[in-house]
Amino acid sequence: MTFDYDLFVIGGGSGGVRAARIAAAEGGARVGLAEESRMGGTCVIRGCVPKKLMVFASGFPADLDLARAYGWDVTAGAFDWPRFRTTLEGELDRLEGAYRSTLANAGVTMHDARAVLEDAHTVRLATGETFTAAHILIATGGHPFRPDIPGAELGVTSNEMFHLPALPKHALVVGGGYIASEFACILHGLGVKTTQYYRGAQILRGFDDEARGHVSTAMQERGITIRCGTDLIHLEKSPGGICAKATDGSQHEFDLVLFATGRVPNSTGIGLQTLGVQMGRRGQIVVDDYSQTAVPSIFAVGDVTDRINLTPVAIREGHAFADTVFRGIPTKADHDLVASAVFTQPEMGAIGLTEEAAREQEPIEVYATSFRPMKTAFAGRTDRVMMKLIVSQGSRRVLGCHIVAPDAGEMIQLAAIAIKMGATKEDFDRTVAVHPTMAEELVTLRKPIRRA
Ligand code: NDP
Repeated sequence: MTFDYDLFVIGGGSGGVRAARIAAAEGGARVGLAEESRMGGTCVIRGCVPKKLMVFASGFPADLDLARAYGWDVTAGAFDWPRFRTTLEGELDRLEGAYRSTLANAGVTMHDARAVLEDAHTVRLATGETFTAAHILIATGGHPFRPDIPGAELGVTSNEMFHLPALPKHALVVGGGYIASEFACILHGLGVKTTQYYRGAQILRGFDDEARGHVSTAMQERGITIRCGTDLIHLEKSPGGICAKATDGSQHEFDLVLFATGRVPNSTGIGLQTLGVQMGRRGQIVVDDYSQTAVPSIFAVGDVTDRINLTPVAIREGHAFADTVFRGIPTKADHDLVASAVFTQPEMGAIGLTEEAAREQEPIEVYATSFRPMKTAFAGRTDRVMMKLIVSQGSRRVLGCHIVAPDAGEMIQLAAIAIKMGATKEDFDRTVAVHPTMAEELVTLRKPIRRA
């Protein structure tokens, strides 16, 4: 049977675009790709990229305070949100254009429409067209989850945060994960009074306990109100905005409520269940190491598979799929030792095991330091940096690295290379420090602070 395409990709985000490009440009495949929204997906259009630009925007007031301490005569004027938003929209347009030209240059045919599966080799577009393909890749990503509480529709999700008509005066952020903690810091930095409710005992569950504590303390010292053990039960309109009733019995008024309560895979309504594609409890598509579903012609990569929901991971999964299927190079996406950063202020970078997970696995040594970095100490600020290495007592390998510091994301990327290569604590020790830097502390940690 001849197909219209060798590959049809549903979803023009990080994973889908990479897979389409490699399959077409390097695998010689005839590739079609459908995207119902904007090319670039969550990361480029409503995630990592606009978020990071907002992180930059929100950091200037603190930078200006520092500049004053260093002798500069500067004052922060008002923040012009509409002006920033307009520039941001222009930048996203530019990036979307770059994605489109990358795909066009690779020879991928783009379809700006929603696609659903009709059978294991056929997709139907919202335009009414149908296409057949030897292989179909589902790369539909995820969407924000909004808890089912009365008045939930009064809140917004991260999707809306980049299009707010005006900045709020007092915002409530619900959740304790990446998105909640990052937006709490962004809003605070932009001058918004910010409160964060988290149902658990400490924000940023899953990260190293000490590092989480460090970030949480720093956020609170900067003026963010974090209420752990507190969840939202009810929202209603009030004269001053939105009245939020919480599980601790409190009732407070906010003019913006952001639900950052997790994301769910975009796996429903595209015809997967009826074809026999296996789905997990959270609606994620179940795939094997090669991203193949239970239906041999259908593959899935990225957030819709809910493995590690990070852009670079989706890109690797998409690339590995294209290498395997279209370049004859069987490749498994590598999910081991993936570093990540949380762009809170201060930032947190992490790779490998937390102390809590490592000590369950084997005997470990913990090396850690906390200090006032030179740049802010000079200005009389109390900001502290934290660095921590988790080391195997047996193999001496560094099992985990946790950094809370300005630019921790940049630092962890480099530390990740050494750790991925299997560096031991002694490899770190024989690396000469770069002075004066914050990161030099990673190679001068002499004595374990504890063994476990
Ligand atoms: P996370 O899973 O990180 O956090 C979700 C938060 O919402 C948790 O604190 C969770 O609490 C809470 N929550 C879930 N359900 C409810 C509920 N019904 N009521 C109240 N609270 C609830 O998801 P995010 O949405 O923050 O981010 C999604 C993913 O996107 C991340 O896991 C990450 O992989 C990726 N991401 C990465 C970024 C980066 O690399 N810098 C930035 C942003 C996102 P609990 O802990 O108790 O479950």
